[in-house]
Amino acid sequence: MDNRPFEMVIGLEVHAQLATRSKLFCGCSTRFGAEANTQICPVCAAFPGVLPVLNQLAVDMAVKTGLAVRGTIQTTSEFARKNYFYPDLPAGYQISQFELPIILSGHVNIPLANGEIKRVGITRIHMEVDAGKSLHEGIVGASWVDLNRTGVPLMEIVSEPDMSSPEEAGEYLKKLRSTLRYLEVCDGNMEEGSFRCDANVSVRPRGEKKLGTRCELKNLNSIRNVMRAITYEAQRQVELILDGGQVVQETRLWDPNQGITRTMRGKEEAHDYRYFPEPDLPPLVLTQDRIQKLADSLPELPDQKVVRFQKDYELSPYDAEVLAASRELAEYFETASRALAASGHNDAKTVANWVMVELLGRLNREGLEITDTPVSALHLAGLIALIKKGTISGKIAKEVFAIQWQNGQDAETIVRERGLVQVTDSGLIEAEVERVIAAYPSEVEQYRSGKTKVFAFFVGQVMKATKGKANPAMVNKLLEDKLA
Ligand code: ADP
Ligand code: MG
Ligand code: ZN
Repeated sequence: MDNRPFEMVIGLEVHAQLATRSKLFCGCSTRFGAEANTQICPVCAAFPGVLPVLNQLAVDMAVKTGLAVRGTIQTTSEFARKNYFYPDLPAGYQISQFELPIILSGHVNIPLANGEIKRVGITRIHMEVDAGKSLHEGIVGASWVDLNRTGVPLMEIVSEPDMSSPEEAGEYLKKLRSTLRYLEVCDGNMEEGSFRCDANVSVRPRGEKKLGTRCELKNLNSIRNVMRAITYEAQRQVELILDGGQVVQETRLWDPNQGITRTMRGKEEAHDYRYFPEPDLPPLVLTQDRIQKLADSLPELPDQKVVRFQKDYELSPYDAEVLAASRELAEYFETASRALAASGHNDAKTVANWVMVELLGRLNREGLEITDTPVSALHLAGLIALIKKGTISGKIAKEVFAIQWQNGQDAETIVRERGLVQVTDSGLIEAEVERVIAAYPSEVEQYRSGKTKVFAFFVGQVMKATKGKANPAMVNKLLEDKLA
């Protein structure tokens, strides 16, 4: 029996809805949440004789995505018919790309918990249409079909099996989603289904080169659920193998309430889609000129920001990666850094620490996004400026931050109104130090006999007496002098 520990192998397939106003092959609206079948036409309903007309904006968006992940843009790609029967698919086929997708290869960089950056490969990106939706709930003896989603443009982004933990899968999805949002090609809304993910999971003994048999997980409607489902599934496979069983390749559904995956369909039931080139559409040919124009139109992307943040602000690769993760977070960090610099203290590193530890920590605990922050970038800069000036200590600053979080006030007002200004009057601190030393003769004895650990106790006493407001450096210095 092989008793090497197991490792996970994860590959993700993401369906991202392109943010066009109209569908991929007709002029119908893509707006979410409209009344059923109010955004359809003969093309959507697959009437005989209709012809698809390709939405060029959707093509541009796919090309931009390919450029952003450093993929190879295929100057000739092809649409294909993927044939299957389903009541919400009136044509009996979905128009997709198969043998010749628009983008091949590429990669996404993700930050790892150990501070390293990992490259996750992208196999391909192809364009396709979404299907309609069958409605069963609250309907007795029948199912209804809503074709509003039929023909909505999607991009399927297929990763290499390069991820080896749920955390890496989570980081990959966050990075990919933020890239699409930077590009404004997809709103990334997982609840509304405009950013969906299927996860392929297998396990193998650590060090083994050959891939294990994979299962494909569906119904993952949040990044948290993707991570939970992968964790459960890998564990299930390991237990199965340790029990002498074998993983069978199949599609499994995640049940978020029970926290388990269960069989949806096996390999035997897998479709044979009988793909063939779509006869109603010519090959999609892209000129170099068009690709170049799109390349020139790209905004600064997360990876470029990461490089610039390291250069301009002297951040570590990991810090830069975290701060550039979303456009909004990057803007917050840069606004705060610039404001701090404008007040005469050029210290982006401290801003980065405050944003990553205090701000993101608090946002995460409360399940909020950076756009919900009650402490603005300018207010955070104001707070850090007070530390830099020596008005307050770092410890008091954390208290002030907590107050800012509650009432949204600027730091200076809070510090003034609550009398939190740091005590830097050496006479005052010296008096406290002397009082403490006089009050604890046996601890002084201990210290002088070599048990220097009690030093922290004295610092604590002086801080307590000054309600945490004494300048820590001065307290340390005076205590050292007096105890010597
Ligand atoms: P399909 O079309 O059947 O879903 P693909 O070849 O397109 O098959 O692969 C889908 C995804 O599965 C890709 O993201 C790929 O990286 C991933 N994948 C393939 N083999 C494995 C494996 N053994 N373990 C984990 N993921 C895998
Ligand atoms: Mg698949
Ligand atoms: Zn239509």
